[in-house]
Amino acid sequence: MKPNTNYQKIPANYLFSTINQKVEQYKTQHPNSDLISLGIGDVTQPIVPAVIDALHKAVDEQASSETFQGYGPEGGYDFLRQSVAQHDFQDRGLAIDASEIFISDGAKSDIANLQELFEVNNKIAIGDPVYPDYIDSNVLAGRLGDWDEQIGQWSDLTYLSSNEANQFIPELPKQVVDVIYLCYPNNPTGMTLSKPELQTWVDYALENNSLILFDAAYEAYIQEPNIPHSIYECEGATKCAIEVRSFSKKAGFTGLRLGYTVVPQELSFQGQCLNKLWSRRQSTKFNGAPYIIQRAGWACYQEPGNTQINEHIAYYMENARIIRAGLEAVGATVFGGINAPYIWLKTPNHLTSWEFFDALLEATQVVGTPGSGFGPSGEGYFRLTAFNSRERTIQAVERIQRFFTQA
Ligand SMILES: *Cc1c(COP(=O)(O)O)cnc(C)c1O
Repeated sequence: MKPNTNYQKIPANYLFSTINQKVEQYKTQHPNSDLISLGIGDVTQPIVPAVIDALHKAVDEQASSETFQGYGPEGGYDFLRQSVAQHDFQDRGLAIDASEIFISDGAKSDIANLQELFEVNNKIAIGDPVYPDYIDSNVLAGRLGDWDEQIGQWSDLTYLSSNEANQFIPELPKQVVDVIYLCYPNNPTGMTLSKPELQTWVDYALENNSLILFDAAYEAYIQEPNIPHSIYECEGATKCAIEVRSFSKKAGFTGLRLGYTVVPQELSFQGQCLNKLWSRRQSTKFNGAPYIIQRAGWACYQEPGNTQINEHIAYYMENARIIRAGLEAVGATVFGGINAPYIWLKTPNHLTSWEFFDALLEATQVVGTPGSGFGPSGEGYFRLTAFNSRERTIQAVERIQRFFTQA
């Protein structure tokens, strides 16, 4: 047997393990320190009561032969596909139906698996900085060439840079690309695109026969009225885009595991209908998300589940507001945090992301995430998350404020 050598190309994900090492080392040296983490991208609030009730009920159904559920449909139960299509799309005036919704065990698997639909020689463009899985899954498939240590980039990847200079609106690629990964609201920057800005990408894809993979994992956090919740709000997007969503950040399902992918019937390339290909892929390699979890997902769209979930989101977004306002008050340059639970902080005094991480940990015992871990355009930035308690968030902000006023 000859192992897949692409696994050797991929650097082990050093980001969070390096953070953990540094934090552990700090704790060993300062055993009485009171650390606050605004670092991890995981929710902290428990699952809402209405969803817990649905889970209990679904568990009980498994105990009786009348209601027991064995293998379900690979693409998800109709009750959930219908709910998703109606509440997330049709109620917003978007013509997406249940046959275009594929329920899964989360956005990460879908995002990583979708690249099986296109050939190895496609040209890829990926937003930068971004959630690392888009790149890693393409590297494992042998699609991005070699890692160039000197410039810190993959040789066959087009980086769509987002930074302060372009106001976090990436430029269209100069050379035609076949597949474009976009994530809005963005992890890690917390920034969004307006509908006309997103339409520019849809128009580009239609013109160049490109496919857009749109990750909308943070859709539920959008607060401002003019921000698109779905790429299908753009004209022609059902002919060029796949959208991925997750219950993880929206409803605290990071441990339960549930997500979905929208593959419109109209989406076809060289006569191949991607909806059929994805259906084939999922039924070959996936046996469906658990019935119990799909019932929990369904309860998110019903009352009182929907209202309870919105209260959790409002809680996190108030944390985000507190972080943003607190940092702005001491003259820090911050982005995001308005339509997403992430605040993207420009490091002071031209510190690198890791220099700032170390300095902040040492001076304040607050842990965040170095922006450079999300791609080359993340250097010089730092991600703070709203996923902590109100009390700890306020304490962390006060400490960071002291850091800035003393710096
Ligand atoms: C957290 C996250 C995911 C993963 O979601 P799961 O459904 O938990 O797999 C996907 N995309 C982005 C941008 C994320 O931040």
